[in-house]
Amino acid sequence: MKRVAVIGGGIGGLTAAGMLARKGHQVTLFEATDALGGKAGTLRVDGLVFDTGPTVMTMPDTVRATFADLGAEDLMPRLERLPLQTHYRYADGREFLCWEDLDRAAESAAALHPADGDGLRSFFADAQKVYRAAGQPYLDAPYETMMGFMARAARNGLGTLVTGLKLSTLDALGRKHFESQHLQQFVNRFATYAGASPYEANAAFAMIAHIERAFGVHHAIGGLGGIVEGLVAAVKRCGVEVVLGQKATHEKRGSSFVVAEREFDAVVVNADPLALQHRAGDPLTMSGYVAMFDVPKRLSLPHHTILFSSDYRKEFAELSAGRLADELTVHVCHPAATDPTMAPEGRSGLYVMVNVPPIQPADEWKTNARVLEAQVRSRLGAMIPELLGVPLRLVAERTPVDLEKKGAPRGSIYGYLPHGKFGPFKRPAMRGEPGVFFAGGGTHPGGGVPLVMLSGRFAAGMTDAHLGGRP
Ligand SMILES: Cc1cc2nc3c(=O)[nH]c(=O)nc-3n(C[C@H](O)[C@H](O)[C@H](O)COP(=O)(O)OP(=O)(O)OC[C@H]3O[C@@H](n4cnc5c(N)ncnc54)[C@H](O)[C@@H]3O)c2cc1C
Repeated sequence: MKRVAVIGGGIGGLTAAGMLARKGHQVTLFEATDALGGKAGTLRVDGLVFDTGPTVMTMPDTVRATFADLGAEDLMPRLERLPLQTHYRYADGREFLCWEDLDRAAESAAALHPADGDGLRSFFADAQKVYRAAGQPYLDAPYETMMGFMARAARNGLGTLVTGLKLSTLDALGRKHFESQHLQQFVNRFATYAGASPYEANAAFAMIAHIERAFGVHHAIGGLGGIVEGLVAAVKRCGVEVVLGQKATHEKRGSSFVVAEREFDAVVVNADPLALQHRAGDPLTMSGYVAMFDVPKRLSLPHHTILFSSDYRKEFAELSAGRLADELTVHVCHPAATDPTMAPEGRSGLYVMVNVPPIQPADEWKTNARVLEAQVRSRLGAMIPELLGVPLRLVAERTPVDLEKKGAPRGSIYGYLPHGKFGPFKRPAMRGEPGVFFAGGGTHPGGGVPLVMLSGRFAAGMTDAHLGGRP
């Protein structure tokens, strides 16, 4: 039995801690704040349940496999698959209903432009190729070297590898497939899943569109924070010692490491590596502002709605320049549409999120939050007819300052900014000095609930191998 310290109790850290304990190691998890879960969590106020971070979940098999490997299937919340994945509303009053069912989605696309029904099919066919060429090899194993990745990609077929290499930006891919700007904007949105700009991020991010369509968009009954609650219960049951309120660092001493004045044989770091490696000059992904509203009536709004801005390119130019956008694209999550446990009868809770730049040195976040709240209210009233004239009570909000307090560098949600052709491959590595491994959204394979779980699983495997376990 070896002693392992896990620094940080986000989903990646919890996963790594639980997996290492299941492999027979003695694991201590240090969390700087007084709560586990990091960016993911649930808030319960006046009968309403709000997720405070992630609301969209895909790749359910990764989540199921993780709970199964922790011997904790009983602790996993029930997942509900959404037939209407997202309702996109545009500034000119038009809409696109992205059903999981491709025929229904194509019908909605064709209503925007006659050629775009077929465009949607060809886009998803390309997205699938991208997933096979780049996504699968990227997600199958820890990314250690470009050569190793290329070898895995080549095993999926040279043709798919070449497809991957020919990719330009996500925006260019959208323009290739769609006549209507509405659907180009739909494609571009997938870059924001990695906190990036579609005008600078590689078209490889189209793999996210494929992942959503192939594996579904899911809600966890009772809120996605239930995944954190399940993981916390699981790791405790596996015997992980949890120390809250302990901001920790690791220091090499002889053949072991000292963390919080205790000795360990290996360390898994769930903090963003950019924060630790002091790569202060590295470009960062976007941050987010979230407002949670109590609505005094049960809305007919679907689970996920996107209210697009009228000029996406301008919005990203402003965000990339470090400014709040004049006109915001707004994500509205209305979980009671799927799950009545999220709000009492006759009421709805709305989680509303917008992208904002990482904190700039001169930012005054109290002021920014009020500006954003006003903009969000005005967009909701203007673009969702059933909200017109309805008083929305702000129940809680989360700003980049809150994210920064949880170790996110300048509040950036996904850490390293993966712009450019090889952007995704320049992420901070999972392997630090011998005996130190990184897990979480800041390292491979990236942010998002299933990916950080994968990261935790990879880090646990690498740590165990380092400690002499069987691969
Ligand atoms: C507003 C918002 C919306 C999102 N929406 C989605 C979504 O819809 N779908 C999706 O899949 N993902 C979404 N995400 C992303 C997802 O939440 C994250 O990628 C994921 O939760 C990050 O997990 P992690 O393992 O990297 O740890 P983090 O959540 O980053 O947690 C790291 C933990 O480490 C602790 N820590 C840091 N430094 C130290 C230290 N020195 N000592 C001790 N403890 C330390 C921190 O306090 C924190 O608890 C969203 C995130 C946000 C903020």
